[in-house]
Amino acid sequence: MIECAEVIHKGDDSGNEMTVRFRLPSGLEIIGLPTKNIYGGHWDLGPTWNYVVQSDRPFLVDAGRFGQGKKLVAMMEETGITAADLEFVLISHSHEDHDGGLSELVDSTRLKVRAHKIYDHLIRRYPAKSPAGNKKNFPAKCWHCPMPESFYSQNCLGYHDVLQGLEIDPIGDGQNDIGPDICAYHLPGHSPDCLAVRLGEEAIIVGDTILPDISPWPTRLSLFDDVAAVIKPHYPDAAAIFGLRRYILSLKKLIEIAQDYAGLVVLPAHRFYYNGHWNPVDLESRAKELLAHHIARCGAIIEILSTGPKTAEKIAAAHFEERLLEGFGSMMAANEIVSHCELLIESGDLAPLNGNVYASTGGMRFETYINNLSVD
Ligand SMILES: [Zn+2]
Ligand SMILES: [Zn+2]
Repeated sequence: MIECAEVIHKGDDSGNEMTVRFRLPSGLEIIGLPTKNIYGGHWDLGPTWNYVVQSDRPFLVDAGRFGQGKKLVAMMEETGITAADLEFVLISHSHEDHDGGLSELVDSTRLKVRAHKIYDHLIRRYPAKSPAGNKKNFPAKCWHCPMPESFYSQNCLGYHDVLQGLEIDPIGDGQNDIGPDICAYHLPGHSPDCLAVRLGEEAIIVGDTILPDISPWPTRLSLFDDVAAVIKPHYPDAAAIFGLRRYILSLKKLIEIAQDYAGLVVLPAHRFYYNGHWNPVDLESRAKELLAHHIARCGAIIEILSTGPKTAEKIAAAHFEERLLEGFGSMMAANEIVSHCELLIESGDLAPLNGNVYASTGGMRFETYINNLSVD
């Protein structure tokens, strides 16, 4: 059990629909509201942890996945908070398990929405700029989505319709005060628009940038190409907002924050409570663990390529356990490998060959390269 946590409503073993009050020494209260997620199987993330921060101007962070907006409002009301008490809802990043419930939430509450400014670009439709095929009806953030039409027409279209009419109060790059002693940090990498929110010297809401138990998925640098028509005028350099290198820089920024504010309570967006127990997170040591994890994965890829050049899919098949490669898993695994290969090309340890094939250069510079990356 986390020391400052008081469970108001007991959920299931994964934490679905539990409600928790976190009481910090200053008296600040945060309510944790984990709503159901659909991404199950061997890649199960567990529910999305949304949080109400009961500061002088209370606000909500995240809205759960599509279909969970009303449930979230009901869970909030059970703890005595109504939407009318809130100043705004802040979206930690544009993934559907965090903003999917936004349409329902805003429809029923008229809450003001705050998010990083890239979010505002990504949720819009650009029929003249979208890729060929069925993507015309979809906002830029979905152009890379490899899900089949049968999935997304059933699961996503309704929510995108409402997002088109939303007005977003944008939050800029770097760090920005969004309330008295409340600071939002732009920490791209897992998604180009990721935010973390520090609550004074006591707590930090980290979205998916740091998770207990599982390592967050880094974007591929090449995802930039899909949305370049929309994003490039604002961010000409892909590496500023996409890729494993950018994710690593965000982890390093979190280490810096942890050192500046010792003892921050970390409020992650998944797996805070899972398999019947709490997973408390120490910001600095978890960020360092994740750095070590990515260094180890780079090493494993070089090792796999020692027997000759391979495609990302072949590397994934050699690296991941078979059960993780079932269904959508193979796609996620290949993405993970590509993001590491992109970094290994930068460090000089890999060379890209034609047809999505990678070859080892015989170099082993990645660890020094990663360790030397600096935040500023
Ligand atoms: Zn995410
Ligand atoms: Zn998530």
